[in-house]
Amino acid sequence: MALNLIMLGPPGAGKGTQAERFAKLKKIPKISTGDMLREAVKAGTEVGLRAKAIMDRGELVSDEVMVKIVQDRINRDDARSGCILDGFPRTVAQARALEAVMVGRAPLIVIDIVVPEAEIVRRLGSRLICATCGQNADPTDEAALRTMRCSRCGGVLAQRADDNESVVRERLKVYQKNTAPLVEYYRERPTYRAVDGTKPPDVVAATLAEEVESAKSVVVGGSAL
Ligand code: ADP
Repeated sequence: MALNLIMLGPPGAGKGTQAERFAKLKKIPKISTGDMLREAVKAGTEVGLRAKAIMDRGELVSDEVMVKIVQDRINRDDARSGCILDGFPRTVAQARALEAVMVGRAPLIVIDIVVPEAEIVRRLGSRLICATCGQNADPTDEAALRTMRCSRCGGVLAQRADDNESVVRERLKVYQKNTAPLVEYYRERPTYRAVDGTKPPDVVAATLAEEVESAKSVVVGGSAL
């Protein structure tokens, strides 16, 4: 059965990490709008050039641009049997546009990774990512932190451009204003599930997998929208 999953949660909640793990497990693509935008910046495309300044300020790229990017990606063949959306939708307008894109596909399952703001600020302040492959460094991997090299590809570890303190504060403000209302938008659905994101990554991954199974049984039962 096709599986379409949305990962909600504030920046630094662990959405990307969990989305990647779950996508591998289920053999469906992870569609991360943050990664796609960072790739566009690196490649110097027109979208990338325009997005860079917005991302560096911690603001949101326009709904119109984001919906187009995601729509094109979801319509590729490899997403036919499902996908995991990480970082999209980020506004209620994006969520509404997504409904239209998903017509005729398996219903959306919504996983909300819940982490309090104080923990988010702490995590983002110390987060390191690989400048080459974009993977987050494991904060418990002492060798990687000592050498400042990525354990996967050997690339240099560095702070993400938008993880400095003032931009993090702006991203959290933007999250509260634009993205937190999405929880209200989805909360009443039978396929909405909240997961405690303060637990260790393995525990979050196991809980997430259980919650997806439980939400899927609602879909199979036919009562989901
Ligand atoms: P995080 O979840 O850690 O805040 P992401 O990697 O998902 O970061 O996104 C980084 C930046 O990319 C955002 O701050 C925003 O500027 C832009 N972005 C990503 N996804 C979207 C989206 N769906 N709508 C608008 N802007 C987006």
